[in-house]
Amino acid sequence: MLTVPNLSVEKKYNSIAVLTSGGDAPGMNAALRAVVRYGIAQGCEVYGVLKGYSGLLEGQIHPMNASSVANIIQRGGTILKTDRCLPFYKKAVRQEAANLLVRKGIEALIVIGGDGSFTGAHLMEKETGFPTIGVPGTIDNDIFGTDDTIGFDTAVNTAIDAIDRIRDTASSHDRIFLVEVMGRSSGFIAINTGIGGGAETVIVPEQMETIASICKTIERGIRRGKSSSIIVVAEGPKPGLAQRVADGLAKKNYNPKVCILGHTQRGGQPTASDRLLASVLGASAVATILSGTSNCMVGVQKNKVTLVPFKEIIGTKKHLSKESMELARVLAT
Ligand code: ADP
Repeated sequence: MLTVPNLSVEKKYNSIAVLTSGGDAPGMNAALRAVVRYGIAQGCEVYGVLKGYSGLLEGQIHPMNASSVANIIQRGGTILKTDRCLPFYKKAVRQEAANLLVRKGIEALIVIGGDGSFTGAHLMEKETGFPTIGVPGTIDNDIFGTDDTIGFDTAVNTAIDAIDRIRDTASSHDRIFLVEVMGRSSGFIAINTGIGGGAETVIVPEQMETIASICKTIERGIRRGKSSSIIVVAEGPKPGLAQRVADGLAKKNYNPKVCILGHTQRGGQPTASDRLLASVLGASAVATILSGTSNCMVGVQKNKVTLVPFKEIIGTKKHLSKESMELARVLAT
């Protein structure tokens, strides 16, 4: 279980802002609640920025109090809303954003998001000196430097719940089902869903399977008396991979069904584990930045909160462990 660190603060700032950016993830609200309440407890003014970097540039910055974050810990999405903001890729625009925060009397910024959002925060701090800190919020769990990201556990639970339901119909009809989960460049959701959902095969971007090898697995299952199979497919760089695999299997005289879970994996109530992670990381981000450490992410490694400089995270790929891929394969046989 995640250890709650010493969160004592040597307060260097009195006014902070928080925003959510990039893809939304269940648990972002729990992180926001922790930031606001922990910040207020330290005697800070806390401002919420609407719609990520877009709202920041538009000056959509509002004071928050303990009641602004009441009754949100259990809600998916983000009450601050989120956005993708192309202008923020420009240096002059990031300078403008920092100037705007300074003019409002805000001294530091907490960014809840993924590695893209952290790149924006890192560049803004490097170029302007405005202190920023990141809280990892993405269902994909693909951020280097942290074992877990907020939203991942919920997304995996959602996908496993879907697989349990699909398995009922798959076994009633003796069918093969291809279940496509999110994961464009990483197979974290797919592999954990595959292991936890008891899938017969897991296809991840890190280790693509050929149609011939998938057929072999299906045949082996049939020889063992299996009449149905669940194949979990990470969407990969070009979503729709499950359908392409289904087309390949159809050419080998199978008749698989395809179920694309899509955005159902993003929504819904965060799990207990995501709420706890979000609460601890949100409060840790406040304690860290108020004490004067910035340009980094608060993450978790081996159940302990860690600080990882943004420059170590950005552009570094987090690899799916060979062990988990092997375990998924062995348990499926
Ligand atoms: P995520 O944070 O979930 O990875 P994105 O990659 O879409 O999501 O990034 C969210 C936002 O962060 C972008 O819309 C942009 O405003 C900002 N951002 C991403 N990459 C950069 C970059 N290289 N330079 C500046 N800002 C960036």
